[in-house]
Amino acid sequence: MPDVLALPVLVLNRFYEPVQVTCARRAFVLLYGGTAMALEDGELYDFDAWRRRPADDHPAVPIVSGVLKVPRVVHLCRYDKRPRGVVRLSRRNVMLRDGHQCQYCGKRPPMRELNIDHVVPRSRGGADTWENLVTSCKPCNLKKGARSLDDAGMRLRQAPGRPRWSTVARILLGHGDAHPAWAPFLESA
Ligand SMILES: [Zn+2]
Repeated sequence: MPDVLALPVLVLNRFYEPVQVTCARRAFVLLYGGTAMALEDGELYDFDAWRRRPADDHPAVPIVSGVLKVPRVVHLCRYDKRPRGVVRLSRRNVMLRDGHQCQYCGKRPPMRELNIDHVVPRSRGGADTWENLVTSCKPCNLKKGARSLDDAGMRLRQAPGRPRWSTVARILLGHGDAHPAWAPFLESA
């Protein structure tokens, strides 16, 4: 039997922006303590209202008076910080952001044939930032060398930047999938 208490739960701040992916165990603590409300089909539920919700065939944990349904999204009513730097800038995460696709030619070779390219070369003061690192296949990487985009006559398929929340969620979930209930919050962020 899968560990129901380990199921991923999306945490939203006061503005309904995703800030974190947590586990059901922690979500129940937040809900029980009144820090968070469960969000389902556009309605917010405090712990008392939530425990009266029928679980039907959704994942749930047994409690004295029946079962407690695992919420898929919780809302932190008083938390107004906006997420920043939630995913570490790393080679692996830059590749995940770019969908393992060369940002110059658009090819998706096997991972061992992918490199990370500094858009503004390090020799010209290019920094290690989300905005300056892109996934590149080895031939494109070699072709560009230590030149700027203009000098190399190359173009990026899209402007690199901090990953969108849909990507962050994928990174946090490892190889798992985001729950369909998360979609409205991931797409807008
Ligand atoms: Zn390429």
